[in-house]
Amino acid sequence: MTLLAREVKARAAELGFVACGITDLGPSPHAVAFDRWLRQGYGGNMRYLHRQAKKRKDTRLIDREAIRGVVILDNYYATEYQQPDGKAKIARYASSTDYHITTLKRVNALAELLTMHGAKTARPYVDTGPVPERELAQRAGLGWIGKNTMLLRPGLGSWFVIGAIFTDLPLELDSPFATDHCGSCTKCLDACPTKAFVEPYLLDATKCISYLTIEYKDEIPAELAGQFGGWAFGCDVCNEVCPWNLRFATETTVPEFLPRAHLSSAGEYFFDRMTEEEFAGRFGDTPLARPGLERMRRNWRLAYASLAGAPRRALDRAQE
Ligand code: SF4
Ligand code: SF4
Repeated sequence: MTLLAREVKARAAELGFVACGITDLGPSPHAVAFDRWLRQGYGGNMRYLHRQAKKRKDTRLIDREAIRGVVILDNYYATEYQQPDGKAKIARYASSTDYHITTLKRVNALAELLTMHGAKTARPYVDTGPVPERELAQRAGLGWIGKNTMLLRPGLGSWFVIGAIFTDLPLELDSPFATDHCGSCTKCLDACPTKAFVEPYLLDATKCISYLTIEYKDEIPAELAGQFGGWAFGCDVCNEVCPWNLRFATETTVPEFLPRAHLSSAGEYFFDRMTEEEFAGRFGDTPLARPGLERMRRNWRLAYASLAGAPRRALDRAQE
């Protein structure tokens, strides 16, 4: 490994990232499948995916000067996070400060090192812009994309955020991750509460609880809402059941990822009773700010209704 690539990876480790790899940019081997996925409507109302499609299918078009992607993984797994029994719950990553803040701050610090070494372009992305993070990470040798469509890394699992820096520095490349370690396992496909996987490696986002509770602004169909199993923001089921996570999940070393949006004792009317000011004060810098108070009210009511096995009428009413 060249000295510079070594220095970049050492700095990434120093900043708390659990892995760092370097990839070139170029046409995606998944371009045809991505177009088909969009055409079949599996992306739902995420119109930005259509707008970004060209760039997602060829990462050279994202930043014209960039020739490399430096990709990092940021582990957010905290054992302190507890799912309450018989209550509404939020995805693990949503219980702490928003990773757009926590991870981006440190990706920016890594980008500074590239600039110091003469990079004219060192643009950071953390779940922003038209960046196909999982594919880039696979190309950078960091893991494989599993049947649950998440990136999985041997010895770690999938409880991490992916970030990238697009740069014009000709850094030494890592080899793409060439193997798939899902084998004959189908645990994620079998466990999905809403049966959102059309087949292995193919997700119908319009049935996924994460999409419905975070991206979807309209009334959620009662037949899906009734299967939420208490999830009110995101869903961790296809991560939780994965043997790679059960075996290898490792405690985060990033203090900002420790849970602080404590909702384990929050009852059914928790968000209904909250004002916008209170919501902004308590959750303004957490992922819950994305749907905002109004939609968290809807989600929370639905989550409780789904726990109670409510009839269709009650699920409809929960969204009124
Ligand atoms: S996040 Fe939940 S609903 Fe979405 S695919 Fe995974 S298990 Fe299914
Ligand atoms: S649960 Fe099994 S099939 Fe699904 S991603 Fe994990 S290893 Fe792959």
